[in-house]
Amino acid sequence: MVYFTFDSANSNQQYIQITASFSTKSAITFLQLPSWRPGRYELGNFAKNVRNFKVFDANNQLISAEKVTKDRWEVNTENTDAIRVTYNYYANELNAGSSFLDDTQLYVNPVNCCVFTEETFGEEVEITINIPAAWEVASSMEKIGEKWKVKNSEEFFDTPFIASGGLQHRTYECGGTTFYIWFNGEVKPDWDRMLKDFEAFTRSQIEKFTEFPVKEYHFLNQIIPYKGYHGVEHQKSTVILLGPSYAVFEEFYVELLGVSSHELYHTWNVKAIRPIEMQPYDFTKENYSKLGYICEGVTTYQGDLFLLKSGVFDLNDYFKELTTQLQRHFDNPARFHATVAESSFDTWLDGYVPGAPGRKVSIYIEGCLLAFVTDVMIRRATSDKYGLDEVMKQLYFNFALQGKGVSAEDYQSTLEGVAGISFQVFFDEYVHGNRPYESILFDSFEYLGIELLHTPTSVYSEGKLGFKALQTENGFTIKAMFPGGPAETAGLMLEDEIISINGYHCDKELNKWLKYFDEDSKTLTVRRAGRMLSFKLPEVNRFFYNTYGLKLMEDANIHQQKALRHWMK
Ligand SMILES: [Zn+2]
Repeated sequence: MVYFTFDSANSNQQYIQITASFSTKSAITFLQLPSWRPGRYELGNFAKNVRNFKVFDANNQLISAEKVTKDRWEVNTENTDAIRVTYNYYANELNAGSSFLDDTQLYVNPVNCCVFTEETFGEEVEITINIPAAWEVASSMEKIGEKWKVKNSEEFFDTPFIASGGLQHRTYECGGTTFYIWFNGEVKPDWDRMLKDFEAFTRSQIEKFTEFPVKEYHFLNQIIPYKGYHGVEHQKSTVILLGPSYAVFEEFYVELLGVSSHELYHTWNVKAIRPIEMQPYDFTKENYSKLGYICEGVTTYQGDLFLLKSGVFDLNDYFKELTTQLQRHFDNPARFHATVAESSFDTWLDGYVPGAPGRKVSIYIEGCLLAFVTDVMIRRATSDKYGLDEVMKQLYFNFALQGKGVSAEDYQSTLEGVAGISFQVFFDEYVHGNRPYESILFDSFEYLGIELLHTPTSVYSEGKLGFKALQTENGFTIKAMFPGGPAETAGLMLEDEIISINGYHCDKELNKWLKYFDEDSKTLTVRRAGRMLSFKLPEVNRFFYNTYGLKLMEDANIHQQKALRHWMK
């Protein structure tokens, strides 16, 4: 048995006091802090938050712990059969995957603040949480008396908890599982509406998979007073961060639904159906995989689609979400240079920052659009009998429940088995290649009787001159340029600050000034790293940065109508 104690005393310093006990069998024991957390495929460098790291033997004598890597300690355990470790963890970051301590809550994601030993990794973990008497604990951990328990360290690392005096919750039952919805922070939940919607998309997802992997599941919502939006999946729970408080049941309710349905789908896809390279997780280093387009892409596609299938969204709501993905895809020129498979591999390099312009694509966006195309390809090949749902169900039963990870070949052969056609060209050209998506998207939408609309953007600088600019204190800064567009051809650079147009300071009205001068006589003066430079923009007779949209075809034929009905079911 492994023991952990978390103490919320001295919360104003935001250091969680952590004590852990492990049995030892070897002369040398390595204590390791995970170097990343599942759900975010980059190194976390969590050890930067650790101070006062001390190790004691079975007789309570301090023994030496030598740091051998950034997050690994070597302990001489020749003369002891157990060790106790104490340290403080700085918890001042509040997001869906972090740990946080203040006067209102102790929020812990054990994966970023708890050490483990290889020898005891499979042992049960008993957890003690020392908090003010009035606080409650929201978590999927099993409560036994005053303590909490999880099966082993892997489950421990997948089991966050929120201890707080401001928790509220409700439950609902679906498919034999009890679902808890928790809120922490300032929020006034519209429980009736929420329970109805959550039950609907939960039921819809379970019906397709035929069973839910666990008997108890917790939505742990951290509501913040400022803007924020993201979630992290776990096997028996999810943490969702959303704000500001006043918008959660107003204009951001769609986001709450979207992220909740997405995280629930992860219970099957990622928490159960897992890339072979991450089966099991190696918490000591990068776990490279090219399958992010399945993990996040299929989940992004299905998460929203289940809101439509369950009636929580109508087609217009759904089109809005899918249009956002389409717009982001077409706005990112990296699609001409990078493949979704290599961008998945590279999340470990710079997957969660903007990075070098035009260098990488998103596993969420490209993955979602490819999942949509895959779904329609299967439907077309099977006369609407099967879709991507059937593939994911088979991966769940034939791989996840057998304890097997999924490889790229497994995914492809399962797809081909369900569809009865080859997907080789699709994988070569769109997953491992960067052939433009236009034709497969138009084709897929047309099969469902949906029109993919694209019109030139009404923003003059984007549509006619091929650059996006952000207003700053002094004027406008160029943030993106369309490859081969007038701005790029003229020699402008990203981060150039536009000072004037034909000698006139553009102030706050960049587009009005740009439109005012004739097509063939626009000279932009910019400030570039302290120098003032002027560029004449060439005249080009084409448009850049289209605006995308979706609508039902008015003259859809009977086959398209039938395909749409099946796809939405
Ligand atoms: Zn996700």
